[in-house]
Amino acid sequence: MNIDTIAAIATAMASAGIGIIRISGREAVEVADRVFSAKSGKSLQDSASHTIHYGFIVEDGTMIDEVLVMLMKAPHSYTREDTVEINCHGGVLVMRKILETVIRHGARPAEPGEFTKRAFLNGRMDLTQAESVIDIINSQNDFAWKSSINQLSGALLSKIREYREKIIHETAFIESAIDDPEHYSLEGYEDHLSEIVEGLEKELKGLLDTADYGRVLREGIHTVIVGKPNVGKSSLLNLLVGSERAIVTDIAGTTRDVIEEHISLNGISLHIIDTAGIHQTDDIVEKVGVDKAKEYIINADLILYVADGSDKLSEEDYEIARMIKNRNVIVLLNKSDLQQKINMDDLTHISEHIISISAKEGDGIKELSDLITSMFLHGRISFNDEVIITNMRHKKELMNAMESLRLVRESIAAQMPEDFYSIDLINAYESLGNIIGESIEDDLADEIFSKFCMGK
Ligand code: GDP
Repeated sequence: MNIDTIAAIATAMASAGIGIIRISGREAVEVADRVFSAKSGKSLQDSASHTIHYGFIVEDGTMIDEVLVMLMKAPHSYTREDTVEINCHGGVLVMRKILETVIRHGARPAEPGEFTKRAFLNGRMDLTQAESVIDIINSQNDFAWKSSINQLSGALLSKIREYREKIIHETAFIESAIDDPEHYSLEGYEDHLSEIVEGLEKELKGLLDTADYGRVLREGIHTVIVGKPNVGKSSLLNLLVGSERAIVTDIAGTTRDVIEEHISLNGISLHIIDTAGIHQTDDIVEKVGVDKAKEYIINADLILYVADGSDKLSEEDYEIARMIKNRNVIVLLNKSDLQQKINMDDLTHISEHIISISAKEGDGIKELSDLITSMFLHGRISFNDEVIITNMRHKKELMNAMESLRLVRESIAAQMPEDFYSIDLINAYESLGNIIGESIEDDLADEIFSKFCMGK
């Protein structure tokens, strides 16, 4: 148990109206009393929980700041420990001075995330909820924020609990039957277990499927615009961004370096990279851009390949086509406002997704954004209460659990003895437990004795 008293500046280290220094731990109130002098003359220790006190931070007779102090006694606080929050003036220097004073009087500096870690260790929240706190803070768009709030409210926790309960129920039954075959028969049990395991695998698969777009929601889609010079890449980027960020000229190869923009399309973030015209070049400056473009293509989630519909494809186009083969590509046939000369048969092997656009007239952008939404979110644009896996750690543990369940099914099919696959069941249970941060031993014991008490 962590019972020492920690302190940290809870607000940003930047000038602002107010700043908050947070103190938590067994001696939080005593430490605060040592530095705080209330106008009322009353000590915090003698005050009721959830009260606010006006006064001054004073050390050796020197006043450091005028403050409001919030008192939250255990267990009714974020950490479930005694907590004091000092609301001071939001200057970097004054916040530092108060923190240093608090530390001189008995607290120690908190580690990053330590308040939330304590909230978890003290049972106020599970791991998924603790992790969602940081996700909420880091949310860059509506989807990321919504799914984090959903996770904070315990949506993922309750799903994982439900799966674990099913698994532990079966494990407990197997153990009971092995211990007490007179009262618990395993006759025909394999079929029942197979059914349960298959159901669970399906559920986990469903969750894992959300992980792909979970990442997309959180981080945005890494998008690269490619195409030979003069097809309209910069014009398209300008249109999407809605400003004149990239310089558009009609001299081939003017977009020399790589331009990155962040845009929001139907609520999804797109990090778009406009590459220098990809073509063989001796120009050193341009060459750097071309090499970078190739590198970005390798790491992109989505490639927007722009071709000039008013022209025939050239050798350069074929070279680009080879580079983006088997990637997630949308072909954009630009300059749809002009007479079209391009041969469609040349394009269908690059991608099944082909959209006619006019970067000049602004045509086809709605089709493009709808297509991106359907490709990455499988048509879902409203998530509401759906549980979405956005965390790589959760994804990994879900995959581990899936693998263990697969082994259970295999063992059943191979007619292995029960105690053989009950190990894999426990492994699946443990992997799921790792997601929410619960240890296994206590739970197993509780389950066996509460539900399968045999009165022995
Ligand atoms: P990039 O080299 O691929 O970035 O191409 P730019 O965006 O610089 O465009 C090259 C030229 O094509 C410019 O003169 C643009 O005005 C023109 N252009 C771009 N998109 C369109 C379009 O949809 N229709 C027409 N008619 N011209 C376009």
